[in-house]
Amino acid sequence: MRLARIGGSGTAILLVCAIAGAAPVYFGNHKIQREFDTTPAWRTVEISCPLDGWTLTTHSDELKVEILGGPTVQGSDWQLLSVPQQAAKNKERRLTVCLGTDKAPGLQAEITYAVREGEGWLRKAVRLSGPKGLVVSRVDLEPMTLTPAPRNHSGKGMPILIGGRCWFGVEYPASRNRIEAGRLELVHFPGREVGGKGLACKTAVCGVARPGQALAMAFEEYLNTVALPPRHFLHYNSWYDLRGAELTPTRLLETYEGFRKGLMEPYGVELDSVVIDDGWQERRSIWRPRKDIYPQGFGPLARDLEAQGTRLGLWMPLSGFNLDVAWGTRKGYEKSSVGNWYCLGGRRFYSAMRDAAARLIREGNLNYYKHDFNFLSCQAEGHDHLPTSQHGHETNVDRTLELLKYEREIQPGIFLNVTSGMWFSPWWLMYADSI
Ligand SMILES: [Zn+2]
Repeated sequence: MRLARIGGSGTAILLVCAIAGAAPVYFGNHKIQREFDTTPAWRTVEISCPLDGWTLTTHSDELKVEILGGPTVQGSDWQLLSVPQQAAKNKERRLTVCLGTDKAPGLQAEITYAVREGEGWLRKAVRLSGPKGLVVSRVDLEPMTLTPAPRNHSGKGMPILIGGRCWFGVEYPASRNRIEAGRLELVHFPGREVGGKGLACKTAVCGVARPGQALAMAFEEYLNTVALPPRHFLHYNSWYDLRGAELTPTRLLETYEGFRKGLMEPYGVELDSVVIDDGWQERRSIWRPRKDIYPQGFGPLARDLEAQGTRLGLWMPLSGFNLDVAWGTRKGYEKSSVGNWYCLGGRRFYSAMRDAAARLIREGNLNYYKHDFNFLSCQAEGHDHLPTSQHGHETNVDRTLELLKYEREIQPGIFLNVTSGMWFSPWWLMYADSI
């Protein structure tokens, strides 16, 4: 490689210009390897399995970044800003490259590829930085064409399976993943400024199956390392039984007692939770229990249930569905522009939702949430997202993940069930116990 210094608006930056014939860079372990070239730009040329020499040839633009109101930067638009660095820590090895571009002065991408000992997959993390005011609209984490072209395949938050040996994905349930005419796309829509603290993009991951291993099993081997451990959770849900004003502590305790005597005790079965579905809430609030039914909140009912060997759980849509949204809007909680629910991308509603989630866990010592009616869509102006469907969706998904994480921090053993409105991305399982 030849080092060249070029000037740019008064400040010289160091560019590493690759020369023809520069040696390729290899990164991986004995199960998976990624080969890079530096001409005409930093790019992946091959993903392989060293165990038997299986190889996937890639024509990669490595990273595609769309700037709001500005250019798209990809492939040879990027230049290496320094020599690629390798580092090892514990059982993980990393390769880091820093890219810059003349197309968007000041925009820089730091890409870190990481692989752990014994694992047949490697991650690709991208961090963007740049001048204040520069907003990144769309990021394609693995823009590449594969040969021979695998069959077309797509799905939001789904792994992309290639030729029985290789899989790609994003550790995020809402990325737009697809392969069409041999072209792979793993896309998300941050709609965020890169100035100041920078922007951490979602993490891409790709893996290979060992010779003779089914690809689904190879993916599951990876998934088991990131998903919450599966567990059994038996609960009673009030929805098909008690509604509205019937949801009194007395009726709930009677119902539990009926189950306990008739169906559980004789067979040595225990119920993990008694879950109150829709109807417990004071609609003119952000998830406060009805005063006419629970004058002292959920504390007394929770203690009675615990005395009888079970716990309390609650239905609570994070969208605020079936609260009085007109009341909330007058109070300043941000409503979604596309339906009668709140937007988690609204700062006031998100903050109130976070407080409510924590308050109820503490008040009722909850061990279960049913997060129903996940609409996750909004295009409103003035919320903490760009006013488009993609950016409103991504922010709502991001905030949902933050809430799930927060709830588990407060109550580590809580069972979190995300229900209607969800789609079957395996990456939900990093945050929720069931979909
Ligand atoms: Zn919104």
